[in-house]
Amino acid sequence: MGGLQQRPRERGEHGLVRRRFVERLRRNGIRDPRVLEAFAQVRRHELVPEALRGRAYADTPLPIGEGQTISAPGIVAAMTQALELRGDETVLEVGTGSGYQTAILSRLAARVISIERVPRLAAAARRALDAFAVTNVVVHLGDGTQGRPADAPYDAIVITAGGPEIPEPLLGQLAVNGRLVGPCGPRGAQELVRIRRVSLRRFARESLGACRFVDLIGAHGWVG
Ligand code: SAM
Repeated sequence: MGGLQQRPRERGEHGLVRRRFVERLRRNGIRDPRVLEAFAQVRRHELVPEALRGRAYADTPLPIGEGQTISAPGIVAAMTQALELRGDETVLEVGTGSGYQTAILSRLAARVISIERVPRLAAAARRALDAFAVTNVVVHLGDGTQGRPADAPYDAIVITAGGPEIPEPLLGQLAVNGRLVGPCGPRGAQELVRIRRVSLRRFARESLGACRFVDLIGAHGWVG
């Protein structure tokens, strides 16, 4: 399942570097074979500024303009694995950024709804996803802290920027048995959390460790 067409095995410098990068992810605890395969397929170097392509497979965030970053691939992989996707889910992503995690998710779920608040980034991500021949993603422009009730409930929700708390509307749009993964907490002391909706009224929350993300700005995030 997933919305990217199969491509022949990539040759050359970036293909080799990416195979080593996936080996590193495996050594660092990414064990889900579907997640590893998605990271092997998505060409991160095509989503970073030309001058930074040589660092595209280092485990580091890189600037993508508008004061925003493409997240470090290690944390993207950990968050993706924590969503426990099987292939038939509808996923909401808050914070499209470069579209990197969006492209990864498109290979692991049936449908991805992604929301980005910065118009230029949303437009660039749409172009990149088109170039990757992704067919199961819609990128919306807006405040992702409100979610998108029209497509809810979501089997999985990932938030790629950090607000003071996990936005309440997103919890309301999570399906029963659904998983939400995202950062929250005061700037400089954020925690990555996973929340499972156990029943209509009960949520189980666990910490996945300390993290550092750019601001989640919106009605249920920080004031921009
Ligand atoms: N996963 C992305 C990638 O790999 O490129 C990284 C995303 S970047 C760390 C976080 C993104 O969240 C930024 O593009 C930022 O503009 C966006 N963002 C912040 N607040 C938002 C909101 N309320 N709604 C939608 N997007 C938001």
